[in-house]
Amino acid sequence: MNATIRSYCRIGLALAAFSGAFVGCSTTSKPEAKQTVAETKFTGLVIEQGPGSLGSEPRKEPVTCLILHHTAGSLPSSLDILQGKDPKHKVGVHYLVTDEPKPRVIRLVPENLAAYHAGKSGWGKLSNLNQNSIGIEIINYDGNVYPYSDAQAEIIFALCDEIIRRHDIKPCNVLAHSDIAVGRKVDPGLKFPWAWLASLGIGAWPLPNEVADNLRKKQNLSPNHVRSLLTAYGYVLENGDAGLKLGVESFQRHFRPAKVDGVIDSETVAILEALLRRYQPKSYREAKFKP
Ligand SMILES: [Zn+2]
Repeated sequence: MNATIRSYCRIGLALAAFSGAFVGCSTTSKPEAKQTVAETKFTGLVIEQGPGSLGSEPRKEPVTCLILHHTAGSLPSSLDILQGKDPKHKVGVHYLVTDEPKPRVIRLVPENLAAYHAGKSGWGKLSNLNQNSIGIEIINYDGNVYPYSDAQAEIIFALCDEIIRRHDIKPCNVLAHSDIAVGRKVDPGLKFPWAWLASLGIGAWPLPNEVADNLRKKQNLSPNHVRSLLTAYGYVLENGDAGLKLGVESFQRHFRPAKVDGVIDSETVAILEALLRRYQPKSYREAKFKP
């Protein structure tokens, strides 16, 4: 996870052409932020108070999910967009993690407001998750291509740990934007350190011995069965083969990053079943024995 030296503008513009996310290069000067520790009850993490964001509204529902994103743009351009300076986007997020050698956490929206970071989305019975979630944006042009630095991973861990403890968020509700917007979003990407974070207690991960056990058994790889398992875990899928393929791809991007192709295979199903047994045992039993 070494930090890569790269040209913000050149790569940012190239990716902007197809990402549709936070894009464009800006000449905004380096943001000033004053320090505060107001919201760090548990970890001692320093959170800087940022410039605020227009993309928010009063929160009417409890926080049950934590959603991770990559910005697909530089720190200045992302801050511009998150402050509402770009009329094409009305977005906002609670926290922004920078990509400097010593990354910082900047707060843009207080947690008692719902920020506009999830967009059209669904997870389990929830839809349009802005009201139900805290959002973290991380500066990375494309987390499917560029690794997150070790220093970013460390500060992401501290921030997630803080938020999860404060809101008592379940491991299986620590999610990628790509998990809740299947077929529409691909962030924070397959380079995001999910396995490492899970080893420290952040988010869900299958037990390796359960995956191995599942692989030794004969697996049911039928599309209907896999669709029911993905749905039981929380994924909201469009109908048809194309909808299922996108769901499998989203699942792999989070839990089987070595091969993200949307193809149902034994390893994907073994991981999915192990996750379900660990985190959603009731839904798993119902999905498994569905006629
Ligand atoms: Zn996103």
